[in-house]
Order: sequence, then structure tokens, then C-alpha cells
Amino acid sequence: MTAQTEKFEFKAEVNQLLDILVHSLYTNREIFLRELVSNASDALDKMRFAINSDPELNDEVEPEIFIAYDEEKKTITVTDTGIGMTKEEVMANIGTIAHSGSAEFVKQAAASKENLDTLIGRFGVGFYSIFMVSDHVVVRTKSYKKDEPAIQWVSDGKNAYELTEIEAEMDHGTSVEIHLNEDMISRFGSDDKLKDIVKRHSNFVSFPIMIGGERVNTVPALWREPKFQIKQEQYEEFYKFLTWDVQPPIETLHISVDAPVQFNALLFVPEKDLDIFGMDRDNWGLDLYVRRVLIEKQNKNLLPEYLSFMKGVVDTEDLPLNISRETLQDNLLIGKISTTLTKQVLGQLEKIAKDDPEKYAKFWKAHARIFKAGHMDFLNREKFSGLLRFDSSKAEEKALVSFEDYTSRAKEEQKEIYYAFVASREAANLNPHLEIFRRKDIEVLYLYDPIDEFVMESIREVGDFTLVAAEYADLEKLDKFESSKKEDSPAPLSEEQEKDMAALASKMKEILGEQVAEVKISERLSDSPCRLVNPDGHMTSTMEKLMKAMNKDNTIPTKTMEINADHPLLRSMLEIFKVNADDEFIALSSRQLLESALLLEGYLNDPHALVGRIQSLLTKAGGWYAELEKKG
Ligand code: ADP
Repeated sequence: MTAQTEKFEFKAEVNQLLDILVHSLYTNREIFLRELVSNASDALDKMRFAINSDPELNDEVEPEIFIAYDEEKKTITVTDTGIGMTKEEVMANIGTIAHSGSAEFVKQAAASKENLDTLIGRFGVGFYSIFMVSDHVVVRTKSYKKDEPAIQWVSDGKNAYELTEIEAEMDHGTSVEIHLNEDMISRFGSDDKLKDIVKRHSNFVSFPIMIGGERVNTVPALWREPKFQIKQEQYEEFYKFLTWDVQPPIETLHISVDAPVQFNALLFVPEKDLDIFGMDRDNWGLDLYVRRVLIEKQNKNLLPEYLSFMKGVVDTEDLPLNISRETLQDNLLIGKISTTLTKQVLGQLEKIAKDDPEKYAKFWKAHARIFKAGHMDFLNREKFSGLLRFDSSKAEEKALVSFEDYTSRAKEEQKEIYYAFVASREAANLNPHLEIFRRKDIEVLYLYDPIDEFVMESIREVGDFTLVAAEYADLEKLDKFESSKKEDSPAPLSEEQEKDMAALASKMKEILGEQVAEVKISERLSDSPCRLVNPDGHMTSTMEKLMKAMNKDNTIPTKTMEINADHPLLRSMLEIFKVNADDEFIALSSRQLLESALLLEGYLNDPHALVGRIQSLLTKAGGWYAELEKKG
């Protein structure tokens, strides 16, 4: 009796992916072998876990990977003695794309051919890369689970695959038989060629890879070797093996610790954020080994999340080999390793910052976004804040300013570090809140990223300096610093004019009504006609915006408007006000001032009214000007 063969269509995204892979101009086709070996190695890892957690499964089969080329059939076969797959697993694993981001992958892969190789590995679609070299693939697999039949899967990588139960006896494991396309035979058709490829891409696989009766991968666990014996190329090769990154890391950290716990670690700082689409946040963690045996990939307890940009492995003698993954989470030993590693990583970053600012800038550019979450690490607060960098009013273009840079050039007697949330350097230069700082030549750190607000709130102090949001700076403290002279400041107001100005302020409040909490005369503006401040002085504008965004609230907040009594516009308004308190110009300009200020603060939802008003103001001003010219 022959078993029934069933035919299945691929899911739509698999078809799209296959289409891209097969037709791409991408030439690095040899990576198909890396992907198969990596799947085989994963299957062997899973088998070992299964045995560890169920001693009943007494297994006689050696964990190994065999690769062979058949001259006659022109096939490459990759066989492993791993966990194998049941029929359901075959259908779920190699007929669909399980990864949640796969649809996105397919889209991006089409756009970025040169990164295809990195993407294939990281997005868990490696298996399909075999169709770059073949249009006839046969997979035979048998699950380690008792009573599950062996399954044969056949596909030409077009639209469909066929499944058949295999009746012959088979050990657990999987073999993938690839019938090479005509034009691939010269590139891949010999054991020697396959050996080369394995050496290039799979040297660090921890199970034996056998080709022609010989073990090909001979590289030992690099992290356990003495440092002086390791060449930089070996580190890089291992890094690429581990991450699929095509660029070398910007930093390598090889650590060997004996107390309080014994462990070796090999860690890397990638040059770029490897989460290419910013949607693969869970894809982090260090691989944990116990005495060279992989216990868990991407363990998330060995480093805090803010250091999740670090890639690498940790190997310890101090844990039992059969430790279950569940108990790893609150294992004291893991906690100790994490504490030590965190200190070492921060220490290394400090060293880079000091010795190689250019490299540090690369690190900052790639990983600052993640790193900033370290403001929650109270134990390492000081080290962490020493590693922060900002743009600032005194920075050269793109320079990165540290708190230390700031404090070392602060004014004598200055005990505050001032910062402001701004949309850009250009916006910062127009920001009325920062005027007084420009005038007094006091440096202000420019923050662009919403998380910076949380960072500042939680750090609060650096040495004996306090962090202060510029918009709430204490005027008295600023007053003691000398101002640069303003050239054309108008004559100060007389006592009577001051009274009139106060009356004008009340009039403006009357005009603006509920839109402002109060209109008052500012003590600190010099260039801008007005600014808006929070009446209670608690939240900074950015925090407020963040809260509003979270609550989907787009009402305009009620703020206090401060006017600049020395500004020519306010002086003109004052004169007009004295002639006729109800002159239309007062109302028009009051509204205009408010809306311009709201615009600068990023609150203006509907600028249409503003445009209309500007036109009528221009018309008026143009009329007066023409009169003057005539008289001229
Ligand atoms: P990834 O390995 O990144 O998940 P692949 O497309 O390469 O993506 O493989 C899809 C899935 O197929 C794997 O996650 C695994 O469950 C299964 N698989 C592939 N090769 C094997 C194998 N040799 N043994 C057991 N399962 C395998």
C-alpha cells in the first residue's frame, strides 16, 4: 500500500517571498547553506532540551549534522539528528511564515537588496533561501515524539508543496535534499566547495558538521580561549555568525570573571541598531551557555533592557547543565552575572567616550534611543548620567555635549544645568523662553526626544548641579549674571506709562478672555514681544504635550501670556491704546500675538484665522505706511 500524497498551496506571503528570493539580483546565494545548518543546529539544541527535561527519552543518536553532495543526482543533502517535525509542524513551519513581521519583511526586502542576506536570517525565513539555488527540494523529517510518522515534503518553490507519509523506518531528525539548478552546479557541486562555505559561515556551530567523513567546523568556543590567542578577525567572524550583521562591530568586550561568580563573556556593540524596522523589539538578549553547552538563546536576564543593543554570549561553570529555563529568570547567580556585566559594559563605554570620541559618537547615534531608558537604573545612576550626550546652545554643529562639558564651562556661581525641549536648533533660536539665556550667555542643553524629559526628571542632580527646565528658571538666580547690552533698547517707561501698560495688559486679557489665564508684563523678555507660561509652573510644555497626546486631547491649554513692555509693537499698541482703548488694532494684535505664540509652542490646531488676521493687519499697516510716505 502506498501512502496518500496531499497537495497544499503556499500562503500568499510565502509566494511573494519566494518570488523576491528567486528573482532578486542578489548574488550571495551560498547563504542558503548557512540557513540550513542553522536550522539543523537549532533542531539539535531543541533535542537536547527535550532530553534534559525528560530523562525517560533515552536517546542513542549522536547529535550531528551531515552534508553531502551526490555527483550523479546533483543534489546537496543536509541531514540532522535533531528534534524533527510532525506533519502539523511541517505545515505550520515550512508553508507559512511564522514571524509576526514577515509581511513587513517581504515589503522591505524588495526595497533593500543589499541587506537581503542580513534580513533573511533575522526574520526567520531562511529555509526559503534554498529556492535561490534549486527548484526541486525534498524534505524528510521524523519527530522525536513517539508514534508520529515520518513525513516527506516536496516542492518546486512555485506555488505549492506535497506531503506524503514515509513508511520506511527513520530516526528522529530531518534531511533536506536540494536538487541544484543547472547553473548552480558549477558553484556548489562538490564537497570541497561546501566545506569552504561551511567554514565561512558556520564555523561556530557547536555540533559537529561532517562532510565526506571529516569534521569541518573546528573553531572552539572562542569566549573560553585566552584573549591573547584570538585575532581580531576571529572576533569579527564570530560576531557575524552570531548576528548576521554584515558590518564588523564597533567594540568587542571579552570578559573573564572568577568572583563573585565564574563566567566568561564575549560581547559586541554593533555599529547600527540591528532592529532595522524598529518592530523587532523582543529580539535581544545574550546567549547563555553552561560549560559550552547552549542553555538559552537571547536570555533577557543577563543584561538590563537599556543595554539590549549589546550582542554576545555568556558561559558559566556555576550553573547545573539541566537547569530549566523557567528557573533562570529569578536565579541569583544570573542576577550577579548581570550586575557585573552591566558595570563592565558601562565602564567600557566610559572608556570609549574618553579615548575615542568619534567611536562614541557612532555608538550614540545608533543606540542612544535604547540606552536612555537607563535612567531607571538607580544603582548605576552616576555612570549612566556621565554617558549621556546632548545638543546644546554652545555646541558646534552635531557636537555631543556631556554634563561634564556643561559644568566645566558654566559661569562662576552657576549651580544649575539648564535644558529646554525644542523641535530643532532653529526653533530653539526663536524660542522666547531661551532669550534670557542668550542674553546672559548661559548654555542651554537642547533636548529633542520625548524620553529626554523622563531622563531629566529622574536624574535631577549631577554632582552639585541641579537640572532645571529653562522655562522655569528662577529669575533671581539668573539676574546675578551680566547681560550683554542691547543696542537699541527703548527708553524705560515712566511711572505713568507703566500704569498705562498695566491697563493695556488688562485690556488684552479682556480681549482674549478664557483663552489665557492672565496677561502680565514680563521681566525677562527682550527680543520677543510675548511668551506663554504655565500658570501653575509645574509641568514643562513637553510633558504636557505628551500627556495630551496620550489622552488624545487636542484642546489648547490655557496659559499665562507675558508681554514685553520694551518691544516696539507693545509700545505702539500702548500709544494707540491711550488714544482709543477700543481701537480695533489692539484687538487684532492681541489675538495675533497669542496665536503666534501658540504656533511657536506647537499648539495651534487651526491656523486659518491667523492668516485672515495677518492680511487685515498688513492692509492697515500698508495704508498707514503709504500715508507716511506721502507726507514724507
Ligand atoms: P527560522 O529557522 O528562522 O525560524 P526558517 O524559515 O529557516 O526560519 O524555518 C522555519 C521553521 O521550520 C523553523 O523555525 C523550525 O521550526 C522549522 N525547521 C526548519 N528546519 C528544521 C530542521 N532541520 N529540523 C526541525 N525543524 C526545522
